[in-house]
Amino acid sequence: MEKTELYIGSHVSMNAPDFFVGSVKEAISYGSNTFMFYTGAPQNSFRKPLNELKIEEGRKLLKEAGFDETKLIVHAPYIINAANYTKPDLWEMSINTIVSELRRTAAFGVKTLVLHPGSHVGMGAENGILALAKALDLAFTTDGTDVKIALETMAGKGHEIGITFEEIRSIIDHCNHKERLGVCLDTCHINDAGYNVENFDEILKEFDKVIGLDRLLVVHVNDTKNPIGAHKDRHENIGYGYLGFDTLYKVVHHPLLKGIPMILETPYYNEKAPYKQEIEMLRSGKFIKGWRD
Ligand code: FE
Ligand code: FE
Ligand code: ZN
Repeated sequence: MEKTELYIGSHVSMNAPDFFVGSVKEAISYGSNTFMFYTGAPQNSFRKPLNELKIEEGRKLLKEAGFDETKLIVHAPYIINAANYTKPDLWEMSINTIVSELRRTAAFGVKTLVLHPGSHVGMGAENGILALAKALDLAFTTDGTDVKIALETMAGKGHEIGITFEEIRSIIDHCNHKERLGVCLDTCHINDAGYNVENFDEILKEFDKVIGLDRLLVVHVNDTKNPIGAHKDRHENIGYGYLGFDTLYKVVHHPLLKGIPMILETPYYNEKAPYKQEIEMLRSGKFIKGWRD
């Protein structure tokens, strides 16, 4: 089999009755060779017990289909907010959820958990960063896994932290378990935060200088509904937003990003998943005008 260095896929669902087996089948149906999934609903921390999720069957199917399990990604639920400790109950619940998600990720044989840094909710970004770093240390001392957390770059909605490379660097600096931390670069989010993705070489240079490219564990490949600096976070289909196809094609095939999983989180259109077409176009470099219409 031809060895490819491009790992590309999308987020996929995990629902009853097939659970992880269904996720793998969905990824295969898009022509993916990696994917991202949530181990339950993205919006809440209610989680089914692992033994109901058909993990072993799914892993067998992965192997048969030639997937490299180490390229798969889990995304933590959105409700976690460890960047604010003015409500200690919520902060502690967030830490417990992080520990549980790290363990669940490990149970699938996956090595990377994407986490939104969270919102400082009025405490100020600096205090938010300290709260999160402390929470991560508490989680890492209790989880007992070697799963890494990839802190996602955020768009700068509301009181979000992690909207500049400097803030991400600062979270890592304040954490005592630096070997467990990496970054998830989201193209929609960095555009909305004010980075010009058209100058992607410059962005990677900046990323390397501030954080270090060795920390980059996963890229979220999304177009955006909003112009640069809008602080909105609304994803758009590839080629239909402000970034455009050529810019995103360059991101996906950038020589410095070889081997890094590229994950689409673009919206459904007419209730249809766009991923098969988007993956095909991003592999080939041929944009089919009006593919969504
Ligand atoms: Fe995310
Ligand atoms: Fe994302
Ligand atoms: Zn987003």
